[in-house]
Amino acid sequence: MSEVLVVVDHVDGAVRKPTLELLALAKRIGEPAAVFFGSPDKGAEVASKLGQFGAEKVYVVDDAQIKGYLVAPKAEALQQLVEKTSPAAVLFVSGYEGKEVAGRLAIKLGAGIITDAVDVEAGPEGPVTTQSVFAGNYTVKAKVTHGTPLITVKPNSTSPEESGAAGTVEEFAATISDGAKKAQIVAQQPRKSSGRPELTEAAIVVSGGRGTGGNFEPVEGLADALGAAVGASRAAVDSGWMPHTFQVGQTGKTVSPQLYVANGISGAIQHRAGMQTSKTIVAVNKDEEAPIFELVDFGVVGDLHSVLPAATEQITAR
Ligand code: FAD
Repeated sequence: MSEVLVVVDHVDGAVRKPTLELLALAKRIGEPAAVFFGSPDKGAEVASKLGQFGAEKVYVVDDAQIKGYLVAPKAEALQQLVEKTSPAAVLFVSGYEGKEVAGRLAIKLGAGIITDAVDVEAGPEGPVTTQSVFAGNYTVKAKVTHGTPLITVKPNSTSPEESGAAGTVEEFAATISDGAKKAQIVAQQPRKSSGRPELTEAAIVVSGGRGTGGNFEPVEGLADALGAAVGASRAAVDSGWMPHTFQVGQTGKTVSPQLYVANGISGAIQHRAGMQTSKTIVAVNKDEEAPIFELVDFGVVGDLHSVLPAATEQITAR
């Protein structure tokens, strides 16, 4: 069985949950092997964590030549690793960086790429992916027909699976050309933490729209009671009530949580595009004819300013 490379998404060695989900998908199509861009002294720690979730091997690419640069050196290192190991596929987390590295790698390898998959299965001629396309109106099964399949997968597409083994570490020395170092990061400012989970990774998302009238307190209150991330419709963002980083939809973020709670959101197609693969959808809307109700598993017809505080109180009391 061939290896399936999983590119590790981490912050200073702290592996983020979507990478563990990729390992579960990788196991379906081959032998999971993670690729960690970071310092070798963090490699063993990361390998032990990733091993618990199915990584049989962890390639550590020393970041000395990569740190401080944008994505080009990573694409170059991955090209060399793919050429050396001939994996069955390379999986990335669907985010800004994952998609950019995957796109660059596809060009370098002349290989096919599939982005924003929500599932990956083994097929007779290689991995078969599921995508939700055209603003979520169609579900498409797709496979790469040329070269190593490069697949970016949305967070929350599956659950991590613990396997209990420890991954072995192998250092991979990549040769990075000067051409890949033409753009450099000159400063990095960590975003102030809200204490809430990251929107695209959260298991629960509570969103608000124009129906909040600009008062997001009930939305944030429910989110905090549920340990959820807060999202917003474009109407709420365009009104200046929430920053663009909170926007869910076609021109915002795509989320696929276990539970999505839409409050005062009508359910426009562009909003649906960002949330309709959520496992369970709940809406609170005072208009019983609102299109969002076509999509929901549970709907509450009512004013969010009274429904949400009541729900929050019940949840907090448990
Ligand atoms: P509205 O459509 O105005 O709906 C407000 C809802 O709140 C109504 O259903 C109303 O009944 C309900 N309501 C009002 N008061 C209350 C209350 N007190 N309690 C409960 N319910 C109440 N939109 C996105 O969200 N994300 C995108 O990424 C996005 N991208 C777009 C890209 C393009 C190219 C275009 C053209 C549009 C895009 N839009 C996007 C905008 C989209 O078409 C809608 O305009 C937007 O989603 C509407 O936001 P809303 O549901 O909050 O507001």
